[in-house]
Amino acid sequence: MRDIAAGAHDRLVESLRELIRIPSINPPDPAGPELAVARYLAGALGDAGIPATVHQPIAGRGSVVARLRGDGTGGKPLLLLSHLDVVPAPPELWTHDPFAADVEDGWIYGRGAVDMKDLVAMELEVMRLLAGEARAAGRDPATDPIPGLRRDVLFASTADEEAGGFAGAAWLAQEHPEDLRAAAAINEAGGVAVYVGSQRLYPIQVAEKGTTSYRLTFHGTWGHGSMPRADNALVLAAQAIERLAVPSPARLTEVTRRFLDGAIAATSESDPSISRLLRGLATSDPAVSATALTGVCLPIYARALDAMLRDTLSPNVLHGGVKFNVIPGAAVLEIDCRRLPGTSEADMEARVRERLGPELAAVTDIELMIASDALVSPFDDPDGLYPVLEAAIRAGDPAGVPLPVMAPFGTDAKHLVDLGVPTFGFSPLRQPPDETYLERWHGIDERVSIEGLRWGLPVLYDAVRRFCE
Ligand SMILES: [Zn+2]
Repeated sequence: MRDIAAGAHDRLVESLRELIRIPSINPPDPAGPELAVARYLAGALGDAGIPATVHQPIAGRGSVVARLRGDGTGGKPLLLLSHLDVVPAPPELWTHDPFAADVEDGWIYGRGAVDMKDLVAMELEVMRLLAGEARAAGRDPATDPIPGLRRDVLFASTADEEAGGFAGAAWLAQEHPEDLRAAAAINEAGGVAVYVGSQRLYPIQVAEKGTTSYRLTFHGTWGHGSMPRADNALVLAAQAIERLAVPSPARLTEVTRRFLDGAIAATSESDPSISRLLRGLATSDPAVSATALTGVCLPIYARALDAMLRDTLSPNVLHGGVKFNVIPGAAVLEIDCRRLPGTSEADMEARVRERLGPELAAVTDIELMIASDALVSPFDDPDGLYPVLEAAIRAGDPAGVPLPVMAPFGTDAKHLVDLGVPTFGFSPLRQPPDETYLERWHGIDERVSIEGLRWGLPVLYDAVRRFCE
């Protein structure tokens, strides 16, 4: 493990707290959420001697980009990608003000603490460390190569990820592809320690499921509430919800097979009963479901694993009815479907129709709201970024086991596909075993461990150096 400059960790904690204190909530208020935080980052980069550009495609929607130079002998750049926006945080449910960045018992509380201002601050700190090394060598980080770097390092922190990225990464990819074009990118959602039995696993995100959502409108007959009808649109919607919410059969994808094989090998000697359960999942043994794992890892991880094994459909919004004594003739349901690699949007729509059954489907309009395909970044390339990320984890935690994983959700990685940039979720953190990290995402009392960041920053720095040297 490489040493990093003294003071870097304290600076990281301070900038993360500053970032949390600038609310950047998406969906936005009319003033636009991200510009102030983009300007803060541009200022911090500028103070380190790194010229930064703030792009603003729509008033208030800011994204910030910057570049450090290598000597040009190492190929295309490495991109450090992140997003600036956060989801809303209802303060009445929190024990801390979501935008105060309070510190208590070694935790920093606040919206964005893990999704994802932590990695924004870590990537900023890596840029500052590299610029500092240039200055120490008598070079100007604005124009000269960073000592030891053979390729450029790009920094891009973008708006609008939480609403699809259209005012952020998607816009940048379209209008300023040179700011994103890279040999590979580091992005959110991976490299965080997960405790399974006595083992520490570090799933590194190499794939993500596709997102598809549909709006279903059920057509019944309006009438007087005193004389119930079978084609009350809310009754139709209730039948549909029950049929749609049934789990799909498991299907093992290449990434999930590799993930399970790695986890089975890691636990086979130390935790044989867990290893056996994992083997049951890997062989689609119907007697073993992911929920069986609830006893051996945190329930949130069992749920995530379950979602990696199958296409999912979740009915999430229902609108219907006008008054208590009026039978509704129409109801609208929005469903969130997540597709494994290999399941097309057409396959998913066919599944929705099949679940509804012919009679219900005949009175239902199905409208596609959004669709993005699943993606898998190549992780077997020996010269690619993935083996470097594994090596950095092993250097930071020799007993830890890095593994490729597919996220059950989507990120801005999808906007880099057309630019040919393989993207990996790598936000290295090592927190206590009972921390429900995944539940903090968009959740109550979102927080990050200061010691976790102390472990993660040198690991991220090491990964960047290894790939660029
Ligand atoms: Zn995020």
